[in-house]
Formats: sequence, structure tokens, C-alpha cells
Amino acid sequence: MGNEIYAKWKGESFECQRCGSCCYRQNLIVSTAEIKAILAHLKTKNSGQFEQFIRDCCTCTGRLIEYDKKLEAQYRNTLFNFYMPFGLECFEEATLVHNHIIHFYPTTKRCVFHNPLETSCFIYPARPLLCKFYPFVVAENINDINYEKSCPGMGHGSPPNERKLHETIETYGQLIGEDIKLVVKYVADKKLKPIKKDLIKESGLTNLEQRLDKLLASRFKEEKADSKESFPEYYRKLIDPYVELKIIPSSIPIEIMKKAFDFQISQRNKVK
Ligand code: SF4
Ligand code: SF4
Repeated sequence: MGNEIYAKWKGESFECQRCGSCCYRQNLIVSTAEIKAILAHLKTKNSGQFEQFIRDCCTCTGRLIEYDKKLEAQYRNTLFNFYMPFGLECFEEATLVHNHIIHFYPTTKRCVFHNPLETSCFIYPARPLLCKFYPFVVAENINDINYEKSCPGMGHGSPPNERKLHETIETYGQLIGEDIKLVVKYVADKKLKPIKKDLIKESGLTNLEQRLDKLLASRFKEEKADSKESFPEYYRKLIDPYVELKIIPSSIPIEIMKKAFDFQISQRNKVK
């Protein structure tokens, strides 16, 4: 954690100034339970609300001068595909996704749920815990409370309740812990064999977080894969635990999985 961005909280006061800048960022980790809550919330929205939201956002950014129904449908779909995988673990038989992040538009870094016109959140009652917690962040040492120094709300209002901040960190740990348990259980049930760590490092997959945009654009060239296992078979194994929970979106992760598949094939070829 870089000292230039974060500072250790020593009882400073905070009051949100509603500037909205915390909705322009990346890597907002969201747990399975939170994904389900957001999905449930989105289902309560009607098409008029979606339409207004998209119209506001598009007008404000100036990216879309002409508003049309087709575009609205496309963006509405983005709202339902609001999360994507973050952090992969490779096994000989499969690659598992550890957790997910909220989708932020790559160019503006704006969260898909942020309405810049009103500086509001489209899913406010169901927003992730880390959004509620901001500018406070979960530090590596969970006994510490850190905050992001750039938040203009710091120094305003009164000091937050320390006990509540610790309770939030604890709740976050429990939410993420549930997801980790799911992966651990799946690995144990299926007796998955890990690929050697140095090979994973060599593949660059450990830096996936930084390269998500690039990977999404990459194409899987199945004809080059020298394997008896077809891509669909492989993909099934990969997403089984997530399909069961109905938390994997159909479009986004497949490009990442293709990359992981490419890597596994190349490693098998090396071994031959
Ligand atoms: S939490 Fe901080 S950055 Fe976010 S809207 Fe409030 S003042 Fe702005
Ligand atoms: S989910 Fe809502 S509060 Fe959180 S970053 Fe997105 S718009 Fe902001």
C-alpha cells in the first residue's frame, strides 16, 4: 500500500462532500453475496429508470450526442454485466476465479452505476461495502484503519466511530472469506492439482489485474491449441462453481479464460 495515497487513520474527522470522485476508480472488489444483492436491486428497477440513468450519464460525459433505443439497450446490458473476474488461480485441470470487481469504464474510470449528472449511485441501497466504507480502506494489517488522502471529505464533520469502522472491516473479511471458502472447497472436492508457481509467474497471469482491458481484447485461437481437450470442455470445468451460483456473466470472462487456456496448453506442450 503506497504511503502517498493512503494514510493511517488517527481519529481524524470525516464528512462526505458528495464530490463523486470515489466512483471513478478501479478494482472495487465485490463479494458473491454483494453481487446477489445488487442483482436483486437491479431487478426492482423499471425500464424508465434505466433509460433516465443512461440518458443522464451519456449526456453528461458528452460521449453520446444522439440518444437512441439501441444504445440504451446496450448500456442497460452493461449494468447487468456489472462485475468481472479478478484474480485467477491456475490448476492443471482448471483455472478458478477468486473474486470479482465492479465494472468501471476503461476510458473514464467511471463506475457503471455512477450518475455524474446528479453525483449519485444507481444502486445506492445495495452498493458494495467498500463504497460505504470509503474513504476508509481495508489495510493489510486488519488492526489498522487506513484512509485515502485525496478524499475531500477528510477534515470535515466529526470523527467516525472507531468501533464501527472495525466492525465494517470484520464484515468485509467475512464476505470475502465466504468466497474463498467456495474456491477452497471446489479445489478439495475436485482434487485439483496446482500448476507450479514459477510457471504462473512466467505466464503473467499474476498481473492480471493490470492487464484486464488488454486481455478482454485478445482472441482465443483454438486452432493453435494442441490438446485433446476442447475449449468448451475446458470452459465448463472452469465456470462450474460459478454457474451453480449463477454469478458468472456470460460474455466478459470468457476472453480471460481463453487466455488462461492458451497458457495451460503452452505449458503442457513444454512438458511433452
Ligand atoms: S467519500 Fe470522499 S471522494 Fe467520495 S464523494 Fe464523499 S467526499 Fe467525495
Ligand atoms: S457502486 Fe455506487 S457508490 Fe460504489 S463506486 Fe459505483 S456508483 Fe459509486
